[in-house]
Amino acid sequence: MPECEICGEESDKLIKCKSCGAKFCEDCGSPIEKLCEFCAEEEEFDEEDLQDVEELSEDTFKGDEE
Ligand SMILES: [Zn+2]
Ligand SMILES: [Zn+2]
Repeated sequence: MPECEICGEESDKLIKCKSCGAKFCEDCGSPIEKLCEFCAEEEEFDEEDLQDVEELSEDTFKGDEE
């Protein structure tokens, strides 16, 4: 059975991160976004940086709610 590259747990359902290519389980990232938790965090940082201009960028983050 393949192992998650992040937590090391075996899982028959791994998602390949579209950003860094790591294979991760559902607990270690977003299967919908196809981003591992590390790459998802980077996107969240961007979002935090933009909080001051939220009015302008609100629409940019649609589909990033999970
Ligand atoms: Zn994992
Ligand atoms: Zn990644």
